[in-house]
Amino acid sequence: MPRMSKGLPIRQKIPNVEKVILVSSGKGGVGKSTVSTNLALSLRNLGLKTGLLDADLFGPSIPKLMNLAGEPRITETGKLIPLVNYGIQTMSMGYLISEENAVVWRGLMVMKALQQLLFEVQWEDLDILVIDMPPGTGDTQLTISQQVKVDGSVIVSTPQDIALLDAVKGITMFNKVNIPILGLVQNMSFFLCPNCNHESHVFGTDGVLREASKHNLEVLGSIPLNEKICTQSDIGKPVAISDPQLAPFYASIAEKVRA
Ligand code: ADP
Repeated sequence: MPRMSKGLPIRQKIPNVEKVILVSSGKGGVGKSTVSTNLALSLRNLGLKTGLLDADLFGPSIPKLMNLAGEPRITETGKLIPLVNYGIQTMSMGYLISEENAVVWRGLMVMKALQQLLFEVQWEDLDILVIDMPPGTGDTQLTISQQVKVDGSVIVSTPQDIALLDAVKGITMFNKVNIPILGLVQNMSFFLCPNCNHESHVFGTDGVLREASKHNLEVLGSIPLNEKICTQSDIGKPVAISDPQLAPFYASIAEKVRA
């Protein structure tokens, strides 16, 4: 555990990692893991040595999204060796434990696992590490924001009111713990009909854009609701590396995150 000074935790640098970016959301199901994965792949496409850490201990999705499975090897000093696909180094609780077992984990065990994922992975000289956070503003988020030196956070939301309200809680939390918010990503923004090209705003219009301007935050990108984003994720070949029409939506976010 990091040392404490005057009751405040000291934020530690993750070994061998230059820059750390958190991807978070107020609630589940808004596309946070999909954004994390496509963002990591787009950063790699920009030529950065990129890692992807799945900090969603109870619902890890990175193994499926990155088409990876199996237990990580351990170094002589007990460090976890990342699993690699598409040029991205990854680590996830999903490699260490089955999902059925994870749900019975309690307090201390969870915190210990989190420490291991944060500080005991043998990353290989990363320019940037994308951390896929669990949804909401619970213990894991607090631990990470207090203990890890973070360069910025990206908040994903749909334009729907309820998802937005939860995202606002995230904005408040990051402001409280002094983590810079790089901006918001509006996911499932609109549906472009493949037959007639009509744009439907299924979850409302531009809710995230309005909220962003209220909080003086940038909108890093608006991603359409598109079947391929879902189906390509399901087969472990995310659109950032498999669909030239959809990849640019994530590439432009990566450009801004890299800046
Ligand atoms: P979260 O991490 O917020 O729980 P996920 O990234 O797991 O959400 O996404 C939830 C579901 O929505 C997944 O099935 C995913 O493939 C799908 N999804 C995410 N973004 C989009 C999108 N823009 N268009 C269509 N489906 C999407």
